[in-house]
Amino acid sequence: MKQLNTFGRYLKKKFKVKTSKITIGLSGFTCPNIDGTVAKGGCTFCLNDSFSPNLAKNTDKIFINLKSAGNPLLEKQLKELDEQVTATREQMSYELGSRKFLVYFQSFTNTYAPFETLKTLFEKALDYEDVVGLSIGTRSDSVTDEVLDYLAQLNKTKEIWIEFGIQSIYDDTLKRINRGHDSLNTKTAIQKAKARGLNVCGHLIFGLPGETQEMMLSSAKTAYGWGIDSVKYHPLYVVKNTLLANEYKAGIFEPITKDEFIDTLIKAIKLKPESVSIQRITAGIDDDTLLAPAWCGWHKNEVMDLIRKAFAKEGWVY
Ligand code: SF4
Repeated sequence: MKQLNTFGRYLKKKFKVKTSKITIGLSGFTCPNIDGTVAKGGCTFCLNDSFSPNLAKNTDKIFINLKSAGNPLLEKQLKELDEQVTATREQMSYELGSRKFLVYFQSFTNTYAPFETLKTLFEKALDYEDVVGLSIGTRSDSVTDEVLDYLAQLNKTKEIWIEFGIQSIYDDTLKRINRGHDSLNTKTAIQKAKARGLNVCGHLIFGLPGETQEMMLSSAKTAYGWGIDSVKYHPLYVVKNTLLANEYKAGIFEPITKDEFIDTLIKAIKLKPESVSIQRITAGIDDDTLLAPAWCGWHKNEVMDLIRKAFAKEGWVY
């Protein structure tokens, strides 16, 4: 059996001990596709504050962006960072035996803030004991050259990753999901990051509206060709109170089946260069906000078992 090149194996090889990502989400971050800078409403599948009063209730209703003159939330963000890093690091050490960590800035667009804010937060995150690097989730239209240059400096002594939502390379699809940027924008940002030696993870979604399997595989192949170092594969699922939910209810959108997804996943992995590590092979949501497909609401282990069995037939171990 062949061990697939997972991100966990990549990190273990590099740092010699189990290394995990600490996922954090900080108040005040938003997305240019939500706050009206690029568009309003966000990607059609995204459950964000335009649709969810709960999210807005949980915040001070202050949001920062690239042009914010200052950041009244910085103290609060640093406190949240501290609480989240400390608690998750302890839990992961205990439950998983993790000894080193990357801090993963996940929620919304994590380079969409004034440069000084980013610098303060990233440096604070890197200051924790056993934190060997960062992973920063963002959009390709929200990374300035200044931030890329700065991250490239950090990358000389730390492990710095940028995660870009690629989703699809088809502009018609990107328009249909209200992505707010085209695929040239994604390609350019990835190549700018790679030119500076940064590590790039690309997110792909299978089952986007109007896409055939051929298109999904072509997106994967193209993304590998852009030089990504790691990949996350997601099925598109429908969450209540989103624009996609309206399309689903109107019968305009049909979600991908579990068999189609697994088949596409295997084909996408076969096209993948060995050096590209795999960070995620499915996604779901285990609560009543899920509308469809039902399999994306199954317990994570059930879906993972099916995928592992399908992988075993290929002679692969995940
Ligand atoms: S880019 Fe991310 S946060 Fe922004 S609208 Fe799309 S899915 Fe939501």
